Amino acid sequence: MPTPPKLTPEERSAALAKASYARKRRAEIKAQIKSGALDLPSVYALAQSDEAISKMRVAEMLESITGVGKIRALSIMERLNISSTRRIKGLGAHQLKNLLKEFAAAPQKMRRGKLIVLSGPGGVGKSTVAAQLRATGDYWVSISATTREPRTNEIDGVDYFFIDDVEFQKRIDASHFLEWAQFAGAKYGTPQKGVEDALDQGHNVLLEIEIDGAKQVKSHMPEALLIFLAPPSWEDLVSRLEGRGTDSPERRTERLALAQEELAAAPSFDLVIVNTSVNEVVEQLVSLASA
Ligand code: 5GP
Repeated sequence: MPTPPKLTPEERSAALAKASYARKRRAEIKAQIKSGALDLPSVYALAQSDEAISKMRVAEMLESITGVGKIRALSIMERLNISSTRRIKGLGAHQLKNLLKEFAAAPQKMRRGKLIVLSGPGGVGKSTVAAQLRATGDYWVSISATTREPRTNEIDGVDYFFIDDVEFQKRIDASHFLEWAQFAGAKYGTPQKGVEDALDQGHNVLLEIEIDGAKQVKSHMPEALLIFLAPPSWEDLVSRLEGRGTDSPERRTERLALAQEELAAAPSFDLVIVNTSVNEVVEQLVSLASA
């Protein structure tokens, strides 16, 4: 292991101050990219005279652009032959040119995000896809309100906002929901404000909801893209529902009957994606967001 350089106390405190300045400067620049105040050519121009910016990773810079998360940033870099650890100062002329071209078509100034509604029969794996998409940062995933009881491991404010019937009715009366529906004995609704705010801030928004709610969203917001997540086969869906330890046998039978009806709704959706692999579904949804 190389021995660290011997520093005087003054040199050490100067190095610490420099590192702290660099961190602050990078956070500042990332916030400006996010708000649309700085576009990529401006960041690159600043990097020529500011060492803190020139040492920023290209991936970090791209992920600061609203609507670009980890997966999209990495896939763009891979396509443009830019190593995932490359820093701004290490960009070759060709790589830089391609990167600027990539983003020139979509101005960095605030564009309204895309609204994608992921629906499909219960048990098909929508919530797994939604959780994975949330982790990528490419989508803002809406958190619904519901009157059903939390399952083990579910957290209020993370998986759902768990509320009672009286509170749910109050929110319906106050036009709080973009859509709401009854499903297997409980009510579920999408809070409208969060969705509108996220879209206005340029985030791509994902709603993971049942079919009736998806149709309501389309009638209020025709620009929404309705995606039907289908199981590879009926047998596959049955085994997924039967393998669920969280539902009672009565509830499972009810859900199977409902799933049959739900599958019949696929043709009224904009796009059907078969859930053969969660990773592939996530990749398709990320590329839809950037299309
Ligand atoms: P679970 O109780 O299994 O979490 O969800 C039951 C069903 O309700 C799933 O199909 C889920 O997609 C749907 N759902 C969750 N949140 C909402 C919502 O806000 N609105 C509507 N219409 N359906 C929802």
